[in-house]
Amino acid sequence: MSNNVTLYAFDAENGDCLLLINNNTGFSILIDSGPNKKIVSERLITSIKNVLINDFIDLAIITHNDDDHIGGFKSFLKKDITINNFIFNSYDYIKKIIPSPRNTKISLKQDKDLFKNIENKIINLELTENGYFLDINIDIFNIKFRSPNLDKLNKYRSWINKEEKKLRNKKISKSSISITNDECIKRASNDIYFKEDTREPNGSSLALDIAFGTSRILLLGDAHPSVVINSLIQDNEEITKYDLIKISHHGSEKNTSNSLLELIDCDNYLICSNAKNSHGHPSPVSLKRIINNNEHAKIYVTKNNSEMKEIESTFNFNFIYPLNSILEFKYEF
Ligand SMILES: [Zn+2]
Repeated sequence: MSNNVTLYAFDAENGDCLLLINNNTGFSILIDSGPNKKIVSERLITSIKNVLINDFIDLAIITHNDDDHIGGFKSFLKKDITINNFIFNSYDYIKKIIPSPRNTKISLKQDKDLFKNIENKIINLELTENGYFLDINIDIFNIKFRSPNLDKLNKYRSWINKEEKKLRNKKISKSSISITNDECIKRASNDIYFKEDTREPNGSSLALDIAFGTSRILLLGDAHPSVVINSLIQDNEEITKYDLIKISHHGSEKNTSNSLLELIDCDNYLICSNAKNSHGHPSPVSLKRIINNNEHAKIYVTKNNSEMKEIESTFNFNFIYPLNSILEFKYEF
C-alpha cells in the first residue's frame, strides 16, 4: 500500500494555520492557529474538523507567540478540538533554558494562559551543542528545527525584559503596493538591498524541516533567514531539495533573501497572508526574488481577494489560489 500525506494550508487572514496528515495512520500535526479573531477561528475549526481523520490532533506546534500564530488556540481548545501534545517554545520554557536574573512584567498573556492550559502536554525540545533544537521523530515524520538558535533565543529573552519598549516598537511598514514594479525588480535583484528582519519574537520562531517518505517540506514560521541559512550550511549539502516551502513571515521583504533561496531547490512556495494588512505582506520584492531564483516556481497564496489580485497583476505574478479557503498539497510515496 502506498503512503500518502496531505498538507492543508488554511486561510487564516494574515496568520498561519497548517495541518499535516498521514492519511494511512490518521496522524496529524497542526502548525499554528491563526489570530485570536472569533470569525477566523470558527472558520478554521470547521475546516480542520472536516479534514481530520481521527477526532483529535496528535501534535500541535506553536512556532512562536505572536497573535497571528498563537491567537486561535484559545478558541480551538474551547471548541473541543482535543490536542494530545504540543511543541511550544513558550516564554516559560525559554526562561528555563536561558535563565535571567531580571523578572519580567510583560503581559505575554496569550502565551501564559495557553501554557497553563497545556503544560502537561508539552514535548520539551532539547538544545544541542550547535545551538539549534534537536530533531524529533514522530509517526513517519522527522522534524528538524532550522530556527531558532541560541543567539536568537537570547535576543528574544532580553527583548521580553524590555516590556515598555514593546509598546513603542510598533513600526508600520509600507504597504506592498506602494512601490513600483521597477523599484520591486531593483530591490529583488541583489541582496545589497536586503535588510533582515530584526524583530526578536520572529527570531524566536521555530522553522520546521519536515521529512516523510521521499518528501521534504520547509515551514519557516516567521523565522529570520540568516538562522535558516546557517543551519542549511551546517548540513554540508550544496543545495537542499524541498517539495514545498512555506515562506517566512507572510512573505515580508525582510525574511526572504536571495542568499537563502540560492541554497534551496524547490518549485512550490506557499505564502500565508491576506495582502490586507498594514505590514505590506506579502512583499512583491520577496515574490520576485523567488521567481528570479526559479522561473518555474509556483506561488500559492492562502487568500483569494482583490488585494492579492492587485499584487498579482501589478507585479506580473501568477498566483495559485485556495478552493473554499483551503490549499491542499498531496504527497505519495
Ligand atoms: Zn506572523
